[in-house]
Amino acid sequence: MTYEPTLEHARRRDEADPLRAYRERFALPRDESGKPTLFLCGHSLGLMPLAARQLVMEELDDWARLAVLGHEHARRPWIPYHENLTAGLTHLTGAKTSEVIAMNSLTVNLHLMLASFYRPSGKRTRILIETGAFSSDRHAVTSQLAWHGLDTARHLIELTPPAGTDTIPEEAIEACLEQYGAEIALVLWPGVQFRTGQAFDLERIARAARRAGCVVGFDLAHSIGNMPLALHEYDADFAVWCSYKYLNAGPGAIGGCFVHERHLLGESPANQAVAAAGATQLPHLMGWWGHEETTRFRMESQFRSAPGIAGWQISNPPILAAAPLIASLAIFQEARIERLRAKSVELTGFLEVLIERLGPDARFITPREVSARGCQISVRITGTPGRGRRVFDKLGARGVICDWRDPDVIRVAPVPLYNTFEDVFRFSEQLTQVLREIV
Ligand SMILES: *Cc1c(COP(=O)(O)O)cnc(C)c1O
Repeated sequence: MTYEPTLEHARRRDEADPLRAYRERFALPRDESGKPTLFLCGHSLGLMPLAARQLVMEELDDWARLAVLGHEHARRPWIPYHENLTAGLTHLTGAKTSEVIAMNSLTVNLHLMLASFYRPSGKRTRILIETGAFSSDRHAVTSQLAWHGLDTARHLIELTPPAGTDTIPEEAIEACLEQYGAEIALVLWPGVQFRTGQAFDLERIARAARRAGCVVGFDLAHSIGNMPLALHEYDADFAVWCSYKYLNAGPGAIGGCFVHERHLLGESPANQAVAAAGATQLPHLMGWWGHEETTRFRMESQFRSAPGIAGWQISNPPILAAAPLIASLAIFQEARIERLRAKSVELTGFLEVLIERLGPDARFITPREVSARGCQISVRITGTPGRGRRVFDKLGARGVICDWRDPDVIRVAPVPLYNTFEDVFRFSEQLTQVLREIV
């Protein structure tokens, strides 16, 4: 597909876009004077689906009307509330129903997964992550090491991009696993790197990690709702994500978690016998909400696990932080992630062509290969120290909402559900003008 760097071309592409009507199902942000802003920040906090308001209102109404009886008699009863989210999550993650659940928030889920899956023993004690991992993930990992009495300097391996580059080729991960695999207990890797926008071949990473005998888990904060996933087939051990980025479920929305079925108790009689004896295949931190639903309220001292990943639940879920996710997942199920991905590839292709025209002032650090990136494009602003930040601030003053990562990166994400080719064109126009003004 070729692109022309004109507004007319952008508009023609929007007219031909079979997904264009979805934009109307989101609240588009405005500035103080009521003018629409140019929003390209769905990688950080996605826009509100208009249907979210009604779903939240229904829960408030049911609470007002029914009080405690809402647990069983709300129009969506609160006790099995997580079931409203399962089909949407299986679509987006490529998991089986028993393998995914909405619960807690991302970093909390990461700790719960590490409690189950990071089990250092003998020589196999180390954790592999990337240099420049999201701060919260690194804090989770280093605090887990400390919890086990292990020091970070010796037990954390941080893999750095090859000299002079910003991204980490999968070969480098494979080479690291070949060299140190026997000492590595667990690999934690992002699906899409938050700063560079690099999308990783998760199947390949999972294969290499498992070949080396390591447990492998993925942080999908920047992947879910962005690119199609097939977690079950990748054979990952676990994955975690949040729902407020590409999933558009609102600030602090309920997160999610995947555990491969080989670690789960099924509903077979044999597994039920194991469950009845209070055991699960893997030790995990427990709470009453992971207890089998039919007997949970007997409040017995013996823990009897719910089947599948439902047994990993701890607390009753935050209904008001889960309701918007129902609205959002319904949109994804209707639009289909494969179609969204196809449009996303076109949007970022257009953005790439436009940014190339800016010359050496703006350097693309996201990989050029389409398979190695999702919606997000990260651009390094070159020039005198501080220029990038001034460019970013000026864009903000002109109503462009994107974001900044120190020391010199602007991140933008045209999101196929609600962004247009015209948005992409207008962004490049704004950036061109600002780069001329700030030299
Ligand atoms: C957004 C993000 C988080 C945020 O964690 P919360 O627990 O939801 O606050 C953590 N890790 C990564 C990689 C992220 O992108």
